[in-house]
Amino acid sequence: MFCDTITLVRDVEKVLVSACLLGINCKYDGGNNKNEKVLKYLEDKEVIPICPEIMGGLPTPRTPAEQKDGKVYNKDEMDVTKEFLKGADEVIYLAKLFDVRKAILKARSPSCGVGKIYDGTFSHSLVDGNGETAKKLINIGIEVLTEEDL
Ligand code: SF4
Repeated sequence: MFCDTITLVRDVEKVLVSACLLGINCKYDGGNNKNEKVLKYLEDKEVIPICPEIMGGLPTPRTPAEQKDGKVYNKDEMDVTKEFLKGADEVIYLAKLFDVRKAILKARSPSCGVGKIYDGTFSHSLVDGNGETAKKLINIGIEVLTEEDL
């Protein structure tokens, strides 16, 4: 009986999920992006919450940041690329440690966005591109979706 339980747990799909989508208050303004559709989708899955910006050493609340010219700057024009890349590397570590194959990430974020991100002008304008963490996950072959793809 015990072995059956272990086998069942091992069979559950593991998914990396942007923590703000789960209702964790890790967003730059101290709030969250809780999404009921995401929570419903995850009901039968094993969830590994991530927030790359916090995992990279940034505080909450924090000044919002966007990608520009291959780097990441916050609205005070401070270069936070190092923190964003460190957070992405920590997420990659978790992905490999737990042998994860899929991630559900917050759309348009400079860390988590997939396909479209803000353009670096802090004017809500979008450009084609992926967040720093999304890029690294895609590079190691993980399927990366946003809440809008569910
Ligand atoms: Fe959410 Fe990702 Fe931003 Fe963290 S870095 S608040 S998980 S979108």
